[in-house]
Amino acid sequence: MRIAIISDIHANLPALTAALGFLQHHQIDNIVCLGDIVGYGAQPNECIELVRQQCSHAVLGNHDAVAIGSLPLNHLNAPGKAAMRWTMEVLTKDNTQYLASLPLLLEHENATFVHASPFKPEFWTYIDSPFKAKDVFAAMNTELCFIGHTHVPGILCEKPGYFQLRKGFRFLINVGSIGQPRDGNPKLSLGIFDSTDWTYENYRLDYDIQRAADSITQNRLPSSLSRRLFQGM
Ligand code: ZN
Repeated sequence: MRIAIISDIHANLPALTAALGFLQHHQIDNIVCLGDIVGYGAQPNECIELVRQQCSHAVLGNHDAVAIGSLPLNHLNAPGKAAMRWTMEVLTKDNTQYLASLPLLLEHENATFVHASPFKPEFWTYIDSPFKAKDVFAAMNTELCFIGHTHVPGILCEKPGYFQLRKGFRFLINVGSIGQPRDGNPKLSLGIFDSTDWTYENYRLDYDIQRAADSITQNRLPSSLSRRLFQGM
C-alpha cells in the first residue's frame, strides 16, 4: 500500500491544492494528515473541507487543539495568536466539530501517525534532535512513526546513521510542512511511504506562494505570516 503523509497545512490552500494535485499522479492508496490543518494561514475552512474529502485518516495538531478550545490561546506565539483569533471566528461549526473528532494518535499499516510525538502526544514536544528522540523510540509500539510539528523534514533512526528505512529498527520520520516550511526551503514538503516495499520518500514541490501570501494580507493577518512563506522560515 502506498500512503501519502501530509502535515502542518496551516490553512494554506494553494499549497494543499498543489500537494493533492501531485499525489493524483503518484498511485496513492490513501492520504494521512498529521494535523495543524488550521492556524497562521487564511483559508482554514477550505483546507479542512479538502482534508475531509481526500484524507482517509487524520490526527489532531496543537493549532487545531487551540481552535476547538482544548488548548489555551497562550500556547501560541503573537502572530499565531492573532491568526487563531480570526480562525476561530471564521471556522464553520461543522468544521470545528470535525477537528474535535480527530484522535491524537493512530496506527495504520503497522505504522504510527501523530502530530508531535508518540510519547505523551498531548505535551506537543518538538522532536528536533536525536537526543530528544531517545525516550520516544522506547515509547513506540510500531517500528515506524510519522510526525510533523517542527515543519522540518527528516529521518531519525534508533541506530544513529541510518537514514533509509530497514526492518528491525525504529524510525521517526518527519514529513515536513505543506503550508509553512521552516528549513529555509520555501517548497512544500510531503512524504510517501510504501508499506509493501518498506520505502519512504520525501518530496519538495513548488506552489503559488504569492497567492497564499495575498490571502493572508487580504484578511489582515500579521504580515510576518506571509513574509515567512517566501523564506521558508
Ligand atoms: Zn504546525
